[in-house]
Amino acid sequence: HAKRNPERRFVYYEPGMREQSGFHLGLENDMRRAIAGSEFELHFQPKVDLDTRQVIGAEALIRWRHPTRGLVSPAEFIPIAEETGLIWEIGCWTLYEACRRLAGWTASGLSLPSVSVNLSPRQFQDARLVGLVTSVVEETGIDPSRLELELTESAMIGDIEKAVAILGGLKDIGVRLSIDDFGTGYSSLAYLKRFPIDTLKIDRSFVRDIVKSATDPAIVSTIVNLAESLGFDTIAEGVETEQQATILRNHRCSRIQGFLISRPLDVISFETFVRESSAAAVS
Ligand code: C2E
Ligand code: MG
Ligand code: MG
Ligand code: MG
Repeated sequence: HAKRNPERRFVYYEPGMREQSGFHLGLENDMRRAIAGSEFELHFQPKVDLDTRQVIGAEALIRWRHPTRGLVSPAEFIPIAEETGLIWEIGCWTLYEACRRLAGWTASGLSLPSVSVNLSPRQFQDARLVGLVTSVVEETGIDPSRLELELTESAMIGDIEKAVAILGGLKDIGVRLSIDDFGTGYSSLAYLKRFPIDTLKIDRSFVRDIVKSATDPAIVSTIVNLAESLGFDTIAEGVETEQQATILRNHRCSRIQGFLISRPLDVISFETFVRESSAAAVS
């Protein structure tokens, strides 16, 4: 897999890239087969209210059950899917699957307020996106306000007018929008105020060292204040310890997601998790 250097405009290879390239090519071919077959599945990670620990939603995270390589992580294949354009078909499946699950859970009385789905930059910029989300919402019959789309800052920089228009089109459907990994990208305050979004997801990198860092608590606090001023909610991702949660609470971040609460779970385990935590909340 070649790295492109935008300044010098040539392609160079590093030692080891030849094997990596074969690996990528293999994955690309396999991915086409995986789309046709049913090798993908969604795992769900709960999002909770920090104080009550009540489940407020879940993030759908794709997994690829590869016949010979085992469970392949999205960090490995999503970038290749983006490069090759296969992300569009994978993204269609993910959106339908997440909404079908939400509809099923609603029908069976599982109390789950919302589900979020990640969209990568190429999906966000695809002219078919608003049409796709409209169809998915109609066909699965879900309340659109219970579907959240997670976008990264990198999807929205570049053509800001275009981004604002797409976000507006999505808001018109009634879905909720969040900026994922917030604080690691390039969004300026001038743009942020023009984006009709609902939530800022505070990037895991600010949470990781929050207990020891001299600066990260201030960054988290600034993001929370900024969100409040602009009328957005916040949620912290990657929360692994009670200490981190306590500091987040002290900085008025009231929603968390991370291994402290649960790892992403397969559907069966996730259903059990939600049932047990709503039973615990009632009793
Ligand atoms: P993300 O959207 O920021 O998702 C959060 C990632 O952090 C997930 O990795 C999750 O398993 C991991 N995580 C959650 N809690 C913790 C924690 O406490 N500690 C640590 N160390 N990690 C935690 P995952 O599932 O491997 O996904 C990686 C990325 O792949 C996602 O980052 C997202 O950008 C992308 N992705 C996943 N599913 C999809 C999908 O269906 N479509 C698209 N376009 N991208 C996806
Ligand atoms: Mg996400
Ligand atoms: Mg994230
Ligand atoms: Mg992240």
